[in-house]
Order: sequence, then structure tokens, then C-alpha cells
Amino acid sequence: MDNLTHTLTAVAIGQAGLNRKTRFATLTVILGANLPDIDLVASFGGSATYLKYHRGITHSILGATVLALLLAWIVWTLGRKAKPKPGLPLAGRWLLLAAGLGTASHLLLDFTNSTECACFYLSARAGIRGTSCLFSILSCWRC
Ligand SMILES: [Zn+2]
Repeated sequence: MDNLTHTLTAVAIGQAGLNRKTRFATLTVILGANLPDIDLVASFGGSATYLKYHRGITHSILGATVLALLLAWIVWTLGRKAKPKPGLPLAGRWLLLAAGLGTASHLLLDFTNSTECACFYLSARAGIRGTSCLFSILSCWRC
């Protein structure tokens, strides 16, 4: 899925009520919705390296959870240093929810592609095939 779609979905999620719970909610969802594609840095190692690592650990449930935790922590830390404004407080648990929804939306949208995801990345690396992507399972069921 392209990053514009991820971003627009994140804006919709953020504007669905999270933006009334904490400061930086929509920003956090947007960052979270694009963060799993950080595997783009592998392209610096060449096309083969990018293809090897694209949609790997960053597109797994474990990777998305870790990315969401890191993102919420970074936004919360930087947000505490930002100039306070009257109105919404900076609420860590809502930032965590925003980051989690962002990364989860990324995985869900990428599941709609025909390109394989590795949502159960660790089991796939252990040689357990057929569990590498929920979409693959659903595709088989649809056939
Ligand atoms: Zn992706």
C-alpha cells in the first residue's frame, strides 16, 4: 500500500476522536501508520537487500508492537519538552493507543495487497510456512 493511503487512513483514525484525548494524537497515528515502511532504509544496501528485508520484521505483529511502543515513548518525551498549551493534556496511554492504531492500520492495509507480509515473522523464520501472512491464509480460503 502506498504511504499516501496509510497517511489518509491515519488522519481519519486520528480525527475519529483521538485528537480530543491527547495532544499530538493525529501526528502520532500518522507516524505510526508509516513507520513499518522504515525498512526502506535497506534500499541503501541495494535493491537485493531491500527486497530481502522489505515487509519483514517491521511488518510483523511483534515488530509493529515494538515500533508503536518506541513511537509513543518518543512523542511523549518530545511532547513533554514542547511548550505547554492550554487545552488538551499530553496523555501517554492515549499516545500509546494512537501509535498502536497507526502501526496496526499499516499492517491491515498491507494485508490487502498481493505481496506477502510476514505478520508472524518469527514463526516464518523458524520454517513454519503457511503462517507467514493472514492474507495468504484468507487467499487460500477464497480460492
Ligand atoms: Zn508497508
